[in-house]
Amino acid sequence: MLYAASPRVDWASLLRRSFEVDVLACPSCGGRLRVLGEVTDTAMVGLVLESLGMPTDAPRVARARDPTEWLGEHGVE
Ligand SMILES: [Zn+2]
Repeated sequence: MLYAASPRVDWASLLRRSFEVDVLACPSCGGRLRVLGEVTDTAMVGLVLESLGMPTDAPRVARARDPTEWLGEHGVE
């Protein structure tokens, strides 16, 4: 039987379990990455993203859709 050592599961383990992604694997050499710090200041986040050439604006929020639009003309097949 498997027992959890702690009620808390770290974020990297949750991402690995949910998406089968190892976010701590270095894409260049396969070594292990470690978190050096966190950036929470909005202005600083913008500067970091900009320096990485990433978008700094939040993605557009799509409006809610009628779920039956997904069913197509003949409904569920
Ligand atoms: Zn590396």
